[in-house]
Amino acid sequence: MSLSIGIIGLPNVGKSTIFNALVQEQAAQVANYPFCTIEPNKSIVPVPDSRLEKLASLVNVGRKIHATIQFVDVAGLVKGASQGEGLGNQFLGHIRDVDAVLHVVRCFDDPNVVHINALPSPIEDIEIINTELALADYQQLEARIEKLSRQVKGDKNLIPVMEMARRLLEVLAAGNPLWGFEGRTDPAFQELNQELRFLTAKPVIFIGNVDEEGLVSESSFEAELREYASDKQVEYLTICARLEEDIIDFSPEERNEYLEISGIKQRGLDKILRKSYQMLGLISYFSFNEDEVRAWTIPDGWSAPQAAGQIHTDFERGFIKADVATFENFEEHGSWTALKSIGQLRSEGREYVVQDGDVIYYRFNL
Ligand code: GDP
Repeated sequence: MSLSIGIIGLPNVGKSTIFNALVQEQAAQVANYPFCTIEPNKSIVPVPDSRLEKLASLVNVGRKIHATIQFVDVAGLVKGASQGEGLGNQFLGHIRDVDAVLHVVRCFDDPNVVHINALPSPIEDIEIINTELALADYQQLEARIEKLSRQVKGDKNLIPVMEMARRLLEVLAAGNPLWGFEGRTDPAFQELNQELRFLTAKPVIFIGNVDEEGLVSESSFEAELREYASDKQVEYLTICARLEEDIIDFSPEERNEYLEISGIKQRGLDKILRKSYQMLGLISYFSFNEDEVRAWTIPDGWSAPQAAGQIHTDFERGFIKADVATFENFEEHGSWTALKSIGQLRSEGREYVVQDGDVIYYRFNL
């Protein structure tokens, strides 16, 4: 499954700096992901998972393949983008294709970096972008309503969709994004969202790009962002993009040492990857054979045959059963054979819902 996350924000807030760090991370891993092509504004990055390392050592294989997430750098969003300012509409189109959004907000104070305001102004920055996104959604929805008003005459089933469209238009007209809209579970909303892929209905995380000191103690800009995020019920995290860029060439040991000395608990890229995974409601399960161990990404709630289809469509079509152990059990007993001999290897059928951390061996027949 190719899940992708767009990085958006005003110019000069640190998007490219973050994106470059992600690209470097991909380059460092390229040997493990020969199937990933390199494109200028896309980067496919492995999701760190210490369980995979552990499994590889238990089953004694050298090749570890992490689950991946694709990031897309969406440059060029400026005030007026929805009216075609900058490269407006073209870039808004890139956002339509992603599954979730990282909204980078400037929280570092640096007189050498030109910005629309002399001092960082997180809320104002966010609202400029949100207004553009809301306007773009508004325009799309307006066109859809025009069409619907003709269609609804011949098809009364479309009335709820039409009503929903009008409600949404009101929200957007006020410059508000749809992520806070309370009727999101309504089938009419989902139908419209599936068709129009609203920019402002995508899951979003605010990323406060802070100075190095900001990672250790909170500045007033960060506090402003944190309170705003909590008020709007949006996930939020802070990173220092410049530091991410600086440590990219370090070995993992050097990196840990550096973070420890600086009093920083977790690397920003790891925070982004984990949070993105969580936000998209994703889980990982593991497969292994004599050559490799591999983590697979699926949405929470998928059945065993659906999850098998991630590996190969044949696995899904010919699914017979899945031998399953939890990662914890596997780690405790050390091998598949040991688990089997004590009856801890479960045999699950078509209805089984895969759990995060399951280690699975599929049996199939074509
Ligand atoms: P973009 O336009 O959002 O892609 O922004 P860039 O990533 O190109 O960053 C704009 C400028 O801000 C560059 O000169 C970066 O080096 C600088 N910058 C990015 N992050 C930080 C940071 O955390 N602190 C400081 N002082 N400068 C940063």
